[in-house]
Amino acid sequence: MISVPSPWISTGHLPTPEVVGHLVEEAHAHFASVEEGNVATYIPALAAASPRSFGICVAATSGASFNAGDWAVPFSIQSLSKPFLFALVCEAIGEQLARDALGVNSTGLPFNSVLAVERTVEGLSNPMVNAGAIATTSLVPGDDAAAQWRFIEDGLSRFAGRRLTLDAEVYQSERATNCSNKGIASLLSAHQQLWSDPATAIDLYTRQCSLLVTAQDLALMACTLANGGRQPLSGEQVIAPLICRRVLAVMVTAGLYETSGDWLYQIGLPGKSGVSGGMITVAPGKGALATWSPPLDEAGNSVRGQLTAHFLSERLGLNLFDSLPSSAS
Ligand code: GLN
Repeated sequence: MISVPSPWISTGHLPTPEVVGHLVEEAHAHFASVEEGNVATYIPALAAASPRSFGICVAATSGASFNAGDWAVPFSIQSLSKPFLFALVCEAIGEQLARDALGVNSTGLPFNSVLAVERTVEGLSNPMVNAGAIATTSLVPGDDAAAQWRFIEDGLSRFAGRRLTLDAEVYQSERATNCSNKGIASLLSAHQQLWSDPATAIDLYTRQCSLLVTAQDLALMACTLANGGRQPLSGEQVIAPLICRRVLAVMVTAGLYETSGDWLYQIGLPGKSGVSGGMITVAPGKGALATWSPPLDEAGNSVRGQLTAHFLSERLGLNLFDSLPSSAS
């Protein structure tokens, strides 16, 4: 097995800044009028989101970014914390141990499924669904919950390149209503798949989901995964290049939960969605797209986010599976 990336890497570059900027504007104008989908209400504080909010940001590995609409409006990160927390835990304990402890296979089930734990004898799922993400959080290093929270807050902030803060209202709202996540934590514990006490794991997981980000923050966080683990603005090496590969592989497998296959078929890139309406799409070596639009489809994925990712993946030439016949053949 090769453990360091070879210099012969399968990446390219984005089109010129003018082209990217123009297409981001065009995508916003094109999809702002789409009215399908529903804002999530199971976390009461999220029900207040405006269905009209719509922001787009493309961040290039060069550090340039291209914005449209509500790209600077903060919202809670929710499940978009999952790939970054998995990355930080892989970096802390080693990607092989993380894989063995958490699993990396698709569940084919909704993001909040309790069955995800019962599905296999071992109780493994993957870090992109609630079960695996709660287990990931329980692996965060630290002597106590306060130290573990510092690890999470610092680590996610390093991906963003700025200090992230908590939305206390969203945190309290989810804390008061997250019975099924508590059930998942108890089941994980029963399967010996939780590495802290369930109440601590759930509290830290709920907090991490309540950190505030903008579409631009998310684009820069995702762009760090497209850039061998180096934050494009701060220049900080947040995680090793190898960990990026691992995280992107799990995003491909399960980033859009039970509709991850449909997503990959259409868009051909690693992606991740969150219940507050955020989405990220990563083009390795090139950059990343983040969108924010609260109305969701049945699986909990932003409707405008998916349309924008499809539009930009095609026009910016991002699909990982594209090729042209060689002129030599
Ligand atoms: N905090 C949310 C939950 O656990 C995150 C889910 C999501 O964004 N899909 O239900």
